[in-house]
Formats: sequence, C-alpha cells, structure tokens
Amino acid sequence: MTTKLLCVAGARPNFPKIAPLMHALQGNPRFVTKLIHTGQHYDDALSKIFFDELNIPRPDLDLEVGSASHAVQTAELLKRFEQVLKDEQPQAVLVVGDVNSTVACALASAKFFLDAPFTFRGVERQRPVMIHVEAGLRSFDDDMPEEINRRVTDNISEMLFVTDPAGEENLKNEGVDAERVNFVGNVMIDTLLAAKEKAMASDVLTRLKLEEGAFALLTLHRPSNVDDPATLREILGALDEIAKDVPIVFPMHPRTKPRIADTNMELDPTRWITCPPMGYLDFLKLEATAKLVLTDSGGIQEETTVLGVPCLTLRENTERPVTITEGTNVLARTKRETILAAYAQVKAESPAGRIPRYWDGHAAERIVKAMEEAFGPK
Ligand code: UDP
Repeated sequence: MTTKLLCVAGARPNFPKIAPLMHALQGNPRFVTKLIHTGQHYDDALSKIFFDELNIPRPDLDLEVGSASHAVQTAELLKRFEQVLKDEQPQAVLVVGDVNSTVACALASAKFFLDAPFTFRGVERQRPVMIHVEAGLRSFDDDMPEEINRRVTDNISEMLFVTDPAGEENLKNEGVDAERVNFVGNVMIDTLLAAKEKAMASDVLTRLKLEEGAFALLTLHRPSNVDDPATLREILGALDEIAKDVPIVFPMHPRTKPRIADTNMELDPTRWITCPPMGYLDFLKLEATAKLVLTDSGGIQEETTVLGVPCLTLRENTERPVTITEGTNVLARTKRETILAAYAQVKAESPAGRIPRYWDGHAAERIVKAMEEAFGPK
C-alpha cells in the first residue's frame, strides 16, 4: 500500500524548509504526497514569492486561516485541519518548524482516527503517524510562543528529525525514546545551498545602491523585541550607534513596521535603508554580502553560519546553540550595552565559524530515506 502523506506549511520560515522535502518527495512512488498551505502568512511578500522562487509546487489546499490571536488562530487551524484529515484520510502528516500551524496540525492529527487501520512498524493503528522536521530545538524560554509550539509538537510526534546534536540531547533529557529521533541535518540549508548561485546573480545591491561588505543587514520581528515600545526603542537606539559606523539595511516585517511608528523614532535615511520584506533570493544575496547581520530570527542564525557571515543575535537566548559553538553567531542580547559590546567584539575579530555536521544540502534526502524505511515496502 502506498502511504498518503500530508505536508504542512503556513508561514515564511516554513517555506524554505518544506521546499527541499517537496522536491525529494516528487515522483517518489512510496508516498502519495499533498501540500497543505494553512494561510498563516498570506501576503505575496511573505508567501507567494517563496513558492515562485523556490519552485515549491502549488499547494493542493489553502486553509486561508489568516492572522488572529494565538488561541483564535490555533483553534481555527485545528478546526480546518481536522476537516482536511476527514477528507484526505492520510496515514502520515509532516510538519516543519515551530509556528502555530506546526503545533495545531500536529495536534489535530495526533488525535484523529482514520476510517481504516494500517500497519506501521509492524503494529496496526488508526491514527496518522506524526512527523516533525526541525525537532528538539529549545530556547528554554516559555515566554517565546515558538518554544511552546516546539515542545508540544515534539511530544506528540513519532518521527523526530533533528538538525543538530543539541536537539538530540534535549529530546533525550525529556525522556524521548531514541528510536523516535533521527539526526539528519538542516533542510533550510538544503534550500540555501540549492539557491545560492541563483541568488548571487540578484541585482539587489545595485537597486539599493549598496557595496558588497559595506553594510549591515537587520531583521526584527519577535514579539518580545517589537511589541513593547520601550524595548524596541532600546534596541533601535543601540543599532543606530552601529549604523553610524556601517549603514543598516532593514527589510521590515509587517508586524514590526507599525511598532516602529509607535516608538516615535526617526531612522535617519543617511544611515538606514528601510524596505518591505524581501524575496528569498534578494535576501540571500544581502545576507551573503553583508559585513554583518543583526537579527532576532531563528533561521537567519543558521543561514549566516553557513555563509560565514558574522551574526549578532538580538535575543536573550537561542534555541540554535550550534550556531554559536560552531558557527558565526554571537548572542548580543537586547540591552544597549550588550549589543554595542557584541558589535565591538565582532568588529575586533570576526567569528571564524565552520559548517555544522550534515548541513550539507542532503537533509531532505535523508528524511525521505528514513521515512521509506519506517513505512516499509509498498
Ligand atoms: N527572509 C527573506 N526575506 C526577508 C527576511 C527573511 O527571505 O526579508 C528569509 C530568511 O532568509 C529565512 C527565513 O526568511 O530563510 C526566516 O524567516 P523568519 O526570520 O521570518 O522566521 P524565523 O526563522 O525567525 O522563524
């Protein structure tokens, strides 16, 4: 029997993760695969452009859930995804990352009973097998909504694919059976390596009148950094000092733009280049050619490590410690003095990183192979 597999993606950071999996599954006779877009991010700049640039197949279904509070959005996702499970009757559901779509679709699947039983690893069962790609990451900060999403998703998933050894360690410490865990590398890096050549041909530097190595690149969107005007003012104040040394390019996340207006701060256009969120290829070119990257993103800490570009992480913690121990990431935290100290440190000596194990462009292939083995012959 072939296995019906639903792959779920919903928000910007999901798209570079789902892309290589969809490519690796395309034409695979073992699985009948469908892609479900939850519509958590719906505007072209955060969604459509990624499908176009990364050649992600058109979603088979779009749940159009849109924006709402955590509870309302999660509830809507649960309702809408349960209907998909009823209609599609999948034996497996694969989710990526740590957004609300990840946890909601995992939860709906883990409690769903299919019309017909099937056999998985020699045992007859009636619930879909839950698969989590990018499992095991922990910031140990429950104020971060993604941390709750990660812990819940891992807890109810049976196949856990992790990106780095810390992920394995975290799951072991939580008492997760080693049989459920598989260290395969990083699908986001599969996408980066596949797209790099095309990205380097982007003319974004000319369009923004930038010179290679002579600008810093900033992204900021974590609620803990942007929702409180005093916190945001503190961070932007420190960054403005850095901008006096090296101009800052700032593609603004839609959640951040109105918050900056709330701070009443003027970002001086002689040292700040602000713009809407960028497409993947333009953004990758900027990341690869920046003097340094300043960010509170999760994925960007990983991308800069592979690109060998210094990264100052504007957060109190990171769920991706391998980017610090092996990569080019420095935890700059969120206070003026810590950010400026981290900048001085990186300016004095660029962190010399190396690429973590299995961040080699083949993570999605390893995942599909492990899934083929787990589900057995057709
Ligand atoms: N990204 C992009 N354009 C931008 C900002 C980010 O293409 O203007 C990409 C970035 O290269 C990475 C992903 O979006 O692949 C990260 O998403 P985000 O920072 O929103 O989420 P997080 O990783 O923090 O969950």
